[in-house]
Amino acid sequence: MRSKIVAGNWKMNQTFEKADELLYQIGEKLEDNLPKNVELVICPPALYLELATDFAQEIEFKIGAQNVSEYDNGAYTGEISAQMLSSMDMDYCIVGHSERRKYFGESSDVLSTKVQRLLEYGIQPIFCVGEQLEERESNKYFDIVKSQISEGIFNLSLSEFSNVVIAYEPVWAIGTGKTASPEQAQEMHAYIRNLVSDKYGVEMADETTILYGGSCNAKNAKELFSQTDVDGGLIGGAALNAEDFITIANSF
Ligand code: PEP
Repeated sequence: MRSKIVAGNWKMNQTFEKADELLYQIGEKLEDNLPKNVELVICPPALYLELATDFAQEIEFKIGAQNVSEYDNGAYTGEISAQMLSSMDMDYCIVGHSERRKYFGESSDVLSTKVQRLLEYGIQPIFCVGEQLEERESNKYFDIVKSQISEGIFNLSLSEFSNVVIAYEPVWAIGTGKTASPEQAQEMHAYIRNLVSDKYGVEMADETTILYGGSCNAKNAKELFSQTDVDGGLIGGAALNAEDFITIANSF
């Protein structure tokens, strides 16, 4: 059976003290409200990964990085390699977030290399795809998502692919308060699962975890997660509030 995952992407938020406080609050909430059969993942800024790993020794959650270098170790000032992340016991790493594609010009080639690096070091990529507003309005959204997936992860072998989590994040829904309707999310998730089935077979498609991201919150998570092909969420803003994040994790 495929896993259900709720992952919190903290983006470039929180001071060290605030990160510590938020992790502590999440730990407290989890004591009385531990979600069943759901994997919780926290993706803090890289500077706080060690802090989060310390908390994860006591509390039931996994840790993800928000980014990884496309390069191996060496003279790449400011970069963090997949080997470094692996040496800090990272479970996951987000790749292809629309903010990285847009503000840092990350192309499909770069993203595909990042995915390879992570897999070489046993870290599961959470590979994000999603269309812009004008692409939805001009009915190009299936084609856009198809090419992002084909170019980013369909070069993988079956066994490599089995370690990838996909996140469908319509760009027009990220941080805007405009969530995709449960029907829109289901339609795209089913489409993605079909693409996986055509490429890797029905069994693999059935095992692939596909998350929804884009203004998912404590109020709308239940309806989104009740859709057949929605296996959880990648949560931005609402992951910065312990109560909301745990409510979302308990929304299956
Ligand atoms: C995200 O950035 O991955 C995201 C889903 O953000 P938000 O939940 O704030 O829309």
